[in-house]
Amino acid sequence: MTLAQLYVRDGLLALDGHFLQALEAAAPPLKLQLQQARSQPEALTPLQESQLLLALGPYLEGFVARLFRIETQVSDLSQRHHALAPLYAIKRKFVQRTAARKINAEQAESIDGAALQLRLRDWFGGQFDELVFATQVQAWLEDETGNAEKIDVALHYAAWALHTEAGKAAHRGGILFRLPHAVDHMHLVPGAEARDQDGYRSFSIKPAQIRQRNGFALTDTGCDLRGALDQANYCILCHAQGKDSCSHGLLEKTPKDGPPLVGKAAFKRTVFGVIQTGCPLSEKISEFHSLKAGGYPLAALAMITVDNPMAAATGHRICNDCMKSCIYQKQEPVNIPEIETRTIKDVLALPYGFEIYSLLTRWNPLNLRRPYPRAHTGYRVLVTGMGPAGYTLAHQLLNDGHTVVGIDGLKIEPLPEHLSGVRADGSRIPFAPVAAVDDLFDALDQRILAGFGGVAEYGITVRWDKNFLKVVRLLLERRPEFSMFGGVRFGGTLSVEDAFRLGFDHIALALGAGRPTVLDIPNGLARGVRTASDFLMGLQLTGAAKADSLANLQLRLPVVVIGGGLTGIDTATESLAYYPVQVEKFTQRYEQLCAERGA
Ligand code: SF4
Repeated sequence: MTLAQLYVRDGLLALDGHFLQALEAAAPPLKLQLQQARSQPEALTPLQESQLLLALGPYLEGFVARLFRIETQVSDLSQRHHALAPLYAIKRKFVQRTAARKINAEQAESIDGAALQLRLRDWFGGQFDELVFATQVQAWLEDETGNAEKIDVALHYAAWALHTEAGKAAHRGGILFRLPHAVDHMHLVPGAEARDQDGYRSFSIKPAQIRQRNGFALTDTGCDLRGALDQANYCILCHAQGKDSCSHGLLEKTPKDGPPLVGKAAFKRTVFGVIQTGCPLSEKISEFHSLKAGGYPLAALAMITVDNPMAAATGHRICNDCMKSCIYQKQEPVNIPEIETRTIKDVLALPYGFEIYSLLTRWNPLNLRRPYPRAHTGYRVLVTGMGPAGYTLAHQLLNDGHTVVGIDGLKIEPLPEHLSGVRADGSRIPFAPVAAVDDLFDALDQRILAGFGGVAEYGITVRWDKNFLKVVRLLLERRPEFSMFGGVRFGGTLSVEDAFRLGFDHIALALGAGRPTVLDIPNGLARGVRTASDFLMGLQLTGAAKADSLANLQLRLPVVVIGGGLTGIDTATESLAYYPVQVEKFTQRYEQLCAERGA
């Protein structure tokens, strides 16, 4: 099959046929089950559906690996998952259930961790790290009597690493000796320190936990595979009991004598009054954790994309409604967004990883209700706003068989035509496959603001890798039924009447976050007072982060930020990062001018 065929319905139908044939050859009853489920998905209980999708996962993984001829690389990636398995088994069995219970914090204080580590290192053949520890202890536990002395030393070392300050410092950044902490809703930041002075209380973070920020480069690369699998193994896979509240919300108990609770009343609330509805997309979280922890990274991503095809633009640092509804309410919830983002990054990092992710957003056998795009409906929809709501809606409409035109008030910079397949005049040419996703990525402090992504482009800061916007954009732009125009203001450049005159059948408003925000307070327009979202937008649009831009945004320190949500924190950190960068740029230019023209 050609790459272009994978972007059109006929090609995807043919691909689905090949998959069903391969499934028939490998597991005939499963193919039959899949066909029955597709024809009557509502006949399945949620558990039956989950079980069917989980059973299909490995076959889908193998099929996609063969399709892109990357069986070896997929097998290596899977192997990297399995190689880490001792860490999670020993953490649960030995560290949490044995060491933490047998030796308490007081007893651990008298343990000489450094001396024990030397003995262990010796037994480990001169090496020592958490994986070596876990692998060796797992082997020793096969013969507990014969290895009694070694196991005892490992047990004491684990207790020292778990309980003592020195042990925690020695394993900072590790996962084996880190236990989930209890959640105190009134103290949600574990490293925070309060100080009362002059009648008010201020907070700072413990010095050891301060992470320095450097200009406008990406500040958080997220966790690695080890960290993601730690979380996936911490998840207790509640779908099996129908208790996966991360996906479907934490439900209130139905009153004994009253009518069943409906709407918002059906859900519990956090102590802050946040309704715990779980993932807004009802993503199959427990199921994708199961596949990821089992060493099926492609199938895990396929499971995610059933409900969340735009997963590149969710996850770590974007949303965490799922975590708020995790079954663990008294201790740290599972860090689902980290696992999701690691899953997509692992696939993207494979040869043709982008093409695989892209394909799964259009053809996905784990999607029983719409495994491939529906036939053309003939409807044309205008989507106004290319932010998260707009691009997600555009994708769903395309898969439902509609033709979509997206517009945005911001100027949208064109992508190279060999990537998007779209020329500057809108005509189409064949696009080249993306063999390595790194070819799409730029350093955030050098990246050109492309105008696509709405609030995700100008409202979110360097805590999130905005390169993912290019990934999402390509998913849409390569589709022949989609066109996009920047610099078109709905209600200005294009009116409702214009849109209908041009032949659109529907107009979708996805303009939410772009509205001007005026503070409805006395002196809200005074000099120096700005809404945080407006400030962030100004900062992004002026290109303040770039060495070659002459940003003229005015900001005088100190800044008082009112509000401690994401926008507030972004504003505080961006303000702190903004001035040093401007001073550096100014100095550089001054020195250059002096060198060229004399001081
Ligand atoms: S993330 Fe939490 S609620 Fe969801 S399946 Fe795992 S443990 Fe259960």
